[in-house]
Amino acid sequence: MAYLTVNDGVKQFATFRALNGVSIAVERGEFFTLLGPSGCGKTTLLRAIAGFNDLSSGSIMLDGKDLRAIPPHKRDIGMVFQDYAVFPHLSVFDNVAFGLKPRKVPAEQIKTRVAEALSAVHLQALAERLPAAMSGGQQQRIGLARAMVINPQLLLMDEPLSNLDAKLRIELREEIRDIQKRVDIATIYVTHDQEEALAISDRICVMSAGHIEQIGTPQQIYGDPQTLFVANFVGTLNTLVAGEGLSRLLADLGLGRAAAHWTVRPERLSLVESGATAPVGAVVVSGTVNKFTYLGREAHVLVDTAAGPVVVQVSNPALGAVRNPGDTVSVLFERNALMAFDADGKRLSL
Ligand code: ATP
Repeated sequence: MAYLTVNDGVKQFATFRALNGVSIAVERGEFFTLLGPSGCGKTTLLRAIAGFNDLSSGSIMLDGKDLRAIPPHKRDIGMVFQDYAVFPHLSVFDNVAFGLKPRKVPAEQIKTRVAEALSAVHLQALAERLPAAMSGGQQQRIGLARAMVINPQLLLMDEPLSNLDAKLRIELREEIRDIQKRVDIATIYVTHDQEEALAISDRICVMSAGHIEQIGTPQQIYGDPQTLFVANFVGTLNTLVAGEGLSRLLADLGLGRAAAHWTVRPERLSLVESGATAPVGAVVVSGTVNKFTYLGREAHVLVDTAAGPVVVQVSNPALGAVRNPGDTVSVLFERNALMAFDADGKRLSL
């Protein structure tokens, strides 16, 4: 049995069902991320595990114990919040020591454990400072140290990087990942940022409207999405437009299967010389450039083709690789790059 399991979790708020039969199994030491759009139920699930709101039905087991039977303050869980939740009138040291006092840890041990936690988040030099004068990134490090210092059975983090600017988010997410691997505490992390989820997680659970769409490693979620929702939410996706052009493309690729949705990721398409012969398992389709967006390490070229408009991602665009609206270009479609989904959004194997 996994270390933490939620089995068939349901949460009903009056007439609204925020969780509709959710099951997850998290392993010891695992970094497990709940990813999904606003309102899909991530926070509701996290708060049920923390004990802030109970499930309407379903079970939550942690290391063989029924968590729902344990009041929140007795659960051995460290929590990190989006808004840091540090006490402005307490020093950094006292903020981190806060959780240890009710646990009756002797004063000497408090000193060493707080020092260790502060050193893990690189705040040892600021122990005597008041948080008010500190940056958002530093305040969140205090939050992280405070959650870890109790040496919990489980760490829960609810969008801890949301209030930070883009550069700091990336820095701190790397740090959180490193620290979590070092302390080896199973962690459930909530985010709506797909790139953050891919970068930080051992496994990702993609949620939508109170249910789970897919659970898998970042590679599985991105590279082998099982539903149209996952394929759209994680990464970008071209949806091909049904019609004669698409039918011809599918026939040329030897894809006879009828599907409701045909899609391809921009980075799986490429621009080739006009008149180029396609390798086996691929076809060249001509089109007209509609828009060229230069982004530095890549460019996005929107091309109108017979199978509808598609974005082609060009990596490391060379100086002079600019395409202008109206230019005729050739797009290489590879059979393996296409993903098909049925009318319910379920992935079809090709
Ligand atoms: P966000 O990223 O915006 O925090 P989320 O995925 O964490 O979104 P939840 O906060 O879990 O979403 O909320 C899920 C749904 O449950 C939302 O539609 C929300 O409005 C609803 N909800 C949450 N708490 C309550 C409540 N106390 N009463 C009624 N509805 C609630």
